[in-house]
Amino acid sequence: MQWPTSGTVTSLIGWRTLNGQRKFHAGIDIGTGTGRPNVVAAYGGTVRVARDQGDGYGNKVVIDHGSGWETLYAHLHEIKTAVGASVAKNQLIGVVGNTGHSFGNHLHLEARLRGQTYEALNAAVNRRTGGAIRPGDPINVDFPGLGPAPSAGYFRGLALSPTTGQGFWLVARDGGVFTIGAADFFGSMGGQALNAPVVGIAAHPSGNGYWLVASDGGIFAYGASGFHGSMGGRPLNAPVVGIAAHPSGNGYWLVGADGGIFAYGAAGFHGSMGGRPLNAPVVGIAAHPSGNGYWLVASDGGIFAYGASGFHGSMGGRPLNAPVVGIAAHPSGNGYWLVGADGGIFAYGSAGFYGSAGGVTLRRPVVGVCATRSGAGYWLLAGDGGVFAYGDAPFIGNGLPFEP
Ligand SMILES: [Zn+2]
Repeated sequence: MQWPTSGTVTSLIGWRTLNGQRKFHAGIDIGTGTGRPNVVAAYGGTVRVARDQGDGYGNKVVIDHGSGWETLYAHLHEIKTAVGASVAKNQLIGVVGNTGHSFGNHLHLEARLRGQTYEALNAAVNRRTGGAIRPGDPINVDFPGLGPAPSAGYFRGLALSPTTGQGFWLVARDGGVFTIGAADFFGSMGGQALNAPVVGIAAHPSGNGYWLVASDGGIFAYGASGFHGSMGGRPLNAPVVGIAAHPSGNGYWLVGADGGIFAYGAAGFHGSMGGRPLNAPVVGIAAHPSGNGYWLVASDGGIFAYGASGFHGSMGGRPLNAPVVGIAAHPSGNGYWLVGADGGIFAYGSAGFYGSAGGVTLRRPVVGVCATRSGAGYWLLAGDGGVFAYGDAPFIGNGLPFEP
């Protein structure tokens, strides 16, 4: 499971005496001071309760994870989910508050197995070596008997070789790089120790190299792609989720799940969502072909356009069958494609619709999209290495069957 909000642990699970009464405190309290940060699901599941039941918990959300496991999130200022909703790990479910029997903004977090408090959460918190706890931080506790949360799979991203247009690189979470078609291999982090999983790849415009980015903001530069700086080892408010190369090849942008932008080299800063409230986490970035701007996309399909990049439409606020996971710019700069984890494609502006994997049964969710050089087609990559080609995109091959 993962930590559901930002704050400081103020109370653990156990017996405590309040006003002379000895009571069992069944959860972990995470104090947030004057702040009301978002609360995300610690684990995927189905929402069983999403209201104030008058029991002192205030506005609460209870998620059923199956096999008798539940997590509970209490004292919420606002509930951002509904009974029956299927939520993924890390999905927004509410906002920290001070409702019910509470004396200040805090999240009361419980995990229960068949109704019994799961005290091992204390050990998970105690194992931490200090510092603020942030969303996305893993709690090193697995719920016994529950399988791992549905995983995106092994592969995390793809990038087209910009010179050949007939090959691409796939990158895996362990930093492994796989070449498909006319794309040269320049090195990888495969087999080397990583501080954090790799989450994306961007091609150097010369076609003679690429950058990998890890969720801690670390950059690995290969071939002609130079190192222009990284967030590796520096504190982040949210994990890095994507990278886009500057068209000059002399820099890149990183984007965090909170919409924060880190600009390096020739890549200028044109604005960010960092520190502003988001309905859903940012999941990707695409550079405007002019190099003077970029689009950010959130998992609810919301688009944030900066600099020269225009707004051509979004899925923000519209119902989705699956979260949006990536974006690709049309080469004209006048549009973009969004792709959902189910392989659905949303085309805007000059970016045409050429087909999608929506409705196809996937072994692993789709993780990214990249456009052909003409802009008359695109490839989708699934987490198991499967590649889907549409429009003028030839089918060159895929990363199957690599999936450790
Ligand atoms: Zn509590």
